[in-house]
Amino acid sequence: MTLICHECGSNDFRLAHIRKTDYFKLLLLQHPVRCRACKSRTYGPLRWALKLPQRVQKRSVSKIV
Ligand SMILES: [Zn+2]
Repeated sequence: MTLICHECGSNDFRLAHIRKTDYFKLLLLQHPVRCRACKSRTYGPLRWALKLPQRVQKRSVSKIV
């Protein structure tokens, strides 16, 4: 399953934050996703979207010397 951005044609998405207005879409098994290339917001199938990476959290890399 590959979703194509309707704005820029990219297929590089990440999970978007859920808003109140998304609940109806979620009932239809559609999850909000955000295009990494142009930042536009759209919806993808829930099962596909949940495999996407979420916003990358910065980790403090502390190496034990
Ligand atoms: Zn895009």
